[in-house]
Amino acid sequence: MAGARCSGCGGWSGRVRGSCLRFPADFPVAGRRVVLWLRVRRFLCEDVSCGRRTFVEQVAGLTR
Ligand SMILES: [Zn+2]
Repeated sequence: MAGARCSGCGGWSGRVRGSCLRFPADFPVAGRRVVLWLRVRRFLCEDVSCGRRTFVEQVAGLTR
């Protein structure tokens, strides 16, 4: 997606501020342990009244 919704105010932002690696909790697949490396983008919230200046995008079903 070109942007993400801020977890603080719900506003939409397309201003990427960088990225980082996240390691969601490991979970088994077909009985085997799986380690997931997930690169997510950090966005700048464009709402000046929002308490969050930046936020990390969420991946549906994987992070929250
Ligand atoms: Zn915000």
